[in-house]
Amino acid sequence: MAGGTAIVTDARMLAHDPGRGHPERPDRLRAVIDHLEDARELVRLEARPATREELALVHPPAHIDRIAASAGRPRVMFDSDTATSPGSYQAALLAAGSLLVLCEAILAGEVANGFAAVRPPGHHAERDRPMGFCLFNNVAIAAAWLRQRGVERVAIIDWDLHHGNGTQHAFEADPSVLYVSTHQYPFYPGTGAAEEVGVGQGAGRTVNLPFPAAFGDAEYIRAFQEIITPIVRQFAPAFVLISAGFDCDHRDPLGSMQVTPAGFSAMAKACVDLAQESAAGRVAAILEGGYDLRAIIEGTDETLDAMRGKHTARPPVTGDPRRADRILARVRAAQSGFWTL
Ligand SMILES: [Zn+2]
Repeated sequence: MAGGTAIVTDARMLAHDPGRGHPERPDRLRAVIDHLEDARELVRLEARPATREELALVHPPAHIDRIAASAGRPRVMFDSDTATSPGSYQAALLAAGSLLVLCEAILAGEVANGFAAVRPPGHHAERDRPMGFCLFNNVAIAAAWLRQRGVERVAIIDWDLHHGNGTQHAFEADPSVLYVSTHQYPFYPGTGAAEEVGVGQGAGRTVNLPFPAAFGDAEYIRAFQEIITPIVRQFAPAFVLISAGFDCDHRDPLGSMQVTPAGFSAMAKACVDLAQESAAGRVAAILEGGYDLRAIIEGTDETLDAMRGKHTARPPVTGDPRRADRILARVRAAQSGFWTL
């Protein structure tokens, strides 16, 4: 494996300030930057802003113009929880661009894999609408960019607490991008039922695992073993992207899930293993949500450790695998026409 594991981040993304008391606060990224400051063995890549052409792989010009018009303005409210400050547009360009820098370096063989520590997050952003703390859909832009670069099949694995409605909608009719999401359900944003499996040519390329509150490591690990790994393996992606949200951690103030670092470790390892099988190890993670600072730091560490081959298997700390019976049966029923499960 060439290169090692990369981290890409940029302190200019701290300038995005959605307002006093907002959970998606600059401290989230500051904590990661401070924590990784002394980390050795990581390749540091310099972030760059995404170009207009790159954003346009997902977003129409009117959406890009709308976000751009917020630059330098004290406050623009896009919806009740999605707001900008003067530096938000630049931060959003860097957030999308950070993942592209990482994907570029991985494709070039300069690094093996890596993590983009960014904000604002992206997976709720629709093609034509900012939403849920998200301005541009970072992971969707990267998937579309990889496709444009000739990568045949891209898998996006989204373990954020919330359903990535924007990512699903960007690719729901596209058979070349597999979108897999675990999420608390019913919950914000309301989408992500097991029966949402993609449309037209994309049927079977959307895989939703809508979890009730209080699922922990054991349920998530079982879902990876019985549903996610088999489906991604059959899809055989040439590149794996992870929407790494740490708001399903047991400490998160917005969520009701019980995942611990042991769970994130197992999920990250599963993604790394899948990338090894069909994608020559090519896997890139991007920070989505997560509102407890320790949870973000520890989850990021677990993800990086799995990428660096430092994973050590450990038993689940929380959860009961039997509690997943009903929901996994439902996902199996929804997906059985498309995959052998
Ligand atoms: Zn989230």
